[in-house]
Parts: sequence; C-alpha cells; structure tokens
Amino acid sequence: MNSSPLGIVCHAGAGTIDDKAAYAAGLTEAIDEGYRLLRQSANAMEAVVAAVTIMEDNPLYDAGTGSDLTIDGQVEMDASLMTQEGRFGGVAGITGVKNPILVAQKVMTETDHLLVCGLGATEFARKMGFEDYNVVTERARTRLQKVVDHGSKYFLKMNQQRFPDGAPPTPEAGALPQPGSKMGTVGAVAIDKHGNLAVATSSGGIVGRMRGRVGDSAILGAGTYAGLSGAVSCTGHGEEIMRRSLARDIVERMKTMPGSTAMTLVVAEARRKKLAFGAIGFDARGGICYGHTTPDMAYGYKVAERLFLFTEEKLRIR
Ligand code: ASP
Repeated sequence: MNSSPLGIVCHAGAGTIDDKAAYAAGLTEAIDEGYRLLRQSANAMEAVVAAVTIMEDNPLYDAGTGSDLTIDGQVEMDASLMTQEGRFGGVAGITGVKNPILVAQKVMTETDHLLVCGLGATEFARKMGFEDYNVVTERARTRLQKVVDHGSKYFLKMNQQRFPDGAPPTPEAGALPQPGSKMGTVGAVAIDKHGNLAVATSSGGIVGRMRGRVGDSAILGAGTYAGLSGAVSCTGHGEEIMRRSLARDIVERMKTMPGSTAMTLVVAEARRKKLAFGAIGFDARGGICYGHTTPDMAYGYKVAERLFLFTEEKLRIR
C-alpha cells in the first residue's frame, strides 16, 4: 500500500507572472482538493477533473470564469481530458457554461464521440443539465481592450517580456498573435493509488484571437495526452503545440526514458525553436515532470504528502 505512487501536478499557464502569490494560492486549493480525493480512493480522472474545475472557477486564470476573449469579445473555451487507456473527451469553442471540463467529461462518458465543438457543444451541455453561465470578467474585457487599442505592438511588447533576451517570434509562428504575457490556461495530471494516470486541460484561449480559432487544449495529443507510459498537459502557443503534438511527443518518449528526461528533451527543443511552451506530467512509475521555455510557469504538485509550488523554484535550468 505504501508503495503507491499517488500524486497530482497542476499548472496555471506559462508566460510572465506578476502576481505569483495569487497564482500559487489558487494552485494550492486545486492541488489539495485533487490530492484529498486521491487519498480517499478517487481515481485519477476524478482528481484531475476536480482540480481543473476549481481552477476554472478562479477568475485569475484563463479558463472558465475569467476566460480570455476573441477579437470581437466572444467567449470560446476549449477543454479536454484523457485516461491512460485512451478514453478521451473534449469540447472546443464552447460558450455559456461555467465548467467546460465537466462538459468534456460528459463527452467522454455519455457519447461515442471524442470532440464536440461550438453550438453543438453548448446544446449538448444543456442536454446534460449544465445551466447557462456568463464567464466574462472585467479583467478579461480590459485585456482585450489593450489588444484592440495597441494592436500588434501590444503583442510585440508581450513577446519581448516572454523572451527577455529579445528573441523575435519565429516566422513559422504564422500570423496569429502569440499568447499574452499573463497566462492562465490550466491543467492537471494525476496518478492514483492503483497507478492509473489521467490528465485534464482547460483554456479560454489566446486573447484577441480570431473567432472560431481552436487551441491545443481541446486536441488529443496536442495539449492533452495520456498513455500507458505517462500523461501530460501542455500550455503555451497552441498552434505550435498542435503542429508538434507536444503532449504526445513527451508521453511517447516516456516509453524508453523517465518522464523528467523526456520533458527536458522536448522543452530544450522547444526553447531552441523559441516556442512559448510549458508542460507538466507523470510517467507510469509516478515520476513527476515539468518544464517551460517562458520566464515563468505557474505549477505545483503534491506527492508523498508534500506540496511543492513554483514559487519555491530557486534555479531555472536554461
Ligand atoms: N495553449 C493555449 C492556447 O493556445 C493558451 C495558453 O496555454 O496560454 O489556446
């Protein structure tokens, strides 16, 4: 019994974080609840859904309440979850619900589909009993207004903050703005007392993006992936994460190496390509892993009764 690898790791986005204490407090709440459930014999899926739901309800983060808006001021949220046996559920561009991750869970448990989008996703949520809910906050409106007022210059400034050494966005990053400097996509990965793995990710998307754009947080293998060798949740520039199937890339590598090595290799490659990227995960043995190319990533974990938060991070390996 004591050899159980039980644990949970959560993130609340990668970028430059000013209010670190507030980000850490929100993470602590989510991690503690996920861990408490795991201790009470909840399975990994139940733990990650509970943790992500708590973070979606925190207006500080870009997921659920507080979601970032499209260029025309709309809410379109992405969320997904996956278990190590390959069960998956996702919603893309959903609006009018409080907790996209709970709808994604229903897609997994109540339908034959993997991913439901847009109006169809909202209609499905209503059928499942989810009430209409407005997640727009004043802070999200202000963030969008900055984009509208300053246009691409604002994104340029944010990119300079994300890469203080002055690295410009790569040509392959395309025409889309890169994610803002204040981040808040959320994710959780857990391993339960039976050694089963699950992952959940939820995002309000990148501020000021085009309407209809879907990010990696809804996509199997991109922002969310679990397999028998491990489970990973990603955050950062969704287009680049999708292009490279980064969550799956890390988990695939875990077949032949510890999670921490797999993570280090993929993060180093992302850094060379100047991608804004961060990820968390567990390998099948309960080995925890995390990494980011951005100045900060809000993350924390609890294993063997000990809580660790990113605010304790002393040394960043470059
Ligand atoms: N990955 C998210 C997206 O591209 C944003 C983020 O993680 O900050 O929608």
